[in-house]
Amino acid sequence: MHDKTITELAAALKAGEFSSVELTEALLRRIEAHNPELNAFITVTREPALQAAREADAARAAGKAGPLTGIPIAHKDIFCTAGVRTSCGSKMLDSFVSPYDATVVEKLKAAGVVMLGKTNMDEFAMGSSNETSYYGPVKNPWKLDAVPGGSSGGSAAAVAARLVPGVTATDTGGSIRQPAAMCGISGLKPTYGRVSRYGMIAFASSLDQGGPMARTAEDLALLLNNMAGFDPRDSTSVEHVVPDYTDGIAESLEGLKIGLPKEFFGEGLDPEVGQVVEAAIKEYEKLGAEVREVSLPNSKLSVPVYYVIAPAEASSNLSRFDGVRYGYRCENPVDLEDLYKRSRGEGFGAEVKRRIMVGTYALSAGYYDAYYLKAQQLRRLIRDDFVRVFEEVDVLMGPTSPTVAFNIGERSDDPLQMYLSDVYTIAVNLAGVPGLSIPAGFAKGLPVGLQVIGNYFSEAKLLNVAHKFQQATDWHLATPEGF
Ligand code: GLN
Repeated sequence: MHDKTITELAAALKAGEFSSVELTEALLRRIEAHNPELNAFITVTREPALQAAREADAARAAGKAGPLTGIPIAHKDIFCTAGVRTSCGSKMLDSFVSPYDATVVEKLKAAGVVMLGKTNMDEFAMGSSNETSYYGPVKNPWKLDAVPGGSSGGSAAAVAARLVPGVTATDTGGSIRQPAAMCGISGLKPTYGRVSRYGMIAFASSLDQGGPMARTAEDLALLLNNMAGFDPRDSTSVEHVVPDYTDGIAESLEGLKIGLPKEFFGEGLDPEVGQVVEAAIKEYEKLGAEVREVSLPNSKLSVPVYYVIAPAEASSNLSRFDGVRYGYRCENPVDLEDLYKRSRGEGFGAEVKRRIMVGTYALSAGYYDAYYLKAQQLRRLIRDDFVRVFEEVDVLMGPTSPTVAFNIGERSDDPLQMYLSDVYTIAVNLAGVPGLSIPAGFAKGLPVGLQVIGNYFSEAKLLNVAHKFQQATDWHLATPEGF
């Protein structure tokens, strides 16, 4: 059962091959067996999961089942879940139990999914390797001494190891696409505003976007159908019709215009990763697509621009964790200032503190114009590049990450090197357009992701482009040894 995709599981549940309770029990056993070595889950919700599975089976018996009824999933531990701890990978929220569900959680619950637990992540989603988590690093199922990517490393590893068929995740600068690439699974970052941020703990509000990860594009479509949509509780969510993302997913790619941004194939790209990506693009030509080189001249600015804007927004968002209202509180504070200082000093990890310091500096009087305002102006130019190329081509393709998964500890002492892991994904968040990553092959024995980027609200097209590749190839079926 554990090797089936969501689409296959939905068909099997419908055909009565097994019940949701049987499926849930089987996956909980796998989590029990493999989580001690992978560390992909922070919290496993065994009893509530079995209860939800019983309810799903009852709904099916009553003729009230939808496509996701009884399907087990897990949520990244950044989504608030009523009655279940939401830690955001931080000591600061180690004992935080949200009184309400995030919109994404609520919508998926209404669709009948069974939540198995909450997945590990970089602290407050700050990282590219899942090494900043208070709960320790996640291991990559393809190579246990390698990172799974980040910040949604637990979500990606759980799907890759077949512990759960689908998960939610978030992407502020690449955190869905990059770990999907490094773990050999599929992941979609929707258009900014497509998926509600209500109840999703804020890192950088103008960049954060929730999305699904699963083995196949078809499964991403099923999940997105039940995640997307306007939410009056999120002022940045967009009122835009939600199509059925499975419709048209198998349409022909004849005449599809693919742009290859030349900036995504230059210095810094591991040549073996480049070869895998080029082979994938050849496959698209066989499927009838036309390929041409394009340019995103300002994308070279995206890493420095992101590392001003994201920390600036984070420093403001994280000011709410003060030891007073919720979260960690230090022992025996002598006065209010001591309470603030020690609660934050003891509750946050090193990377989070670095971001708060950088962000506070960039926003301070005297530096605001030089850093934050300048970064916003450059962000506009980065966005304009995408708007311009999408007048010419339907989608952009390139590598998701410049390298395959690196070893645990290899980049943790060098933040700049770590920040460059997202060199191909960050511009997409700055522009707010959607992007996905699908397995495209292997380099050095580890998975390589192909990134596909589209115009605003072109998720259906991206899923179609990904699905056709998965019909023609079987990289998405590769399973790490031992799982
Ligand atoms: N790696 C990037 C960062 O550390 C992006 C993280 C994310 O997308 N949440 O900020």
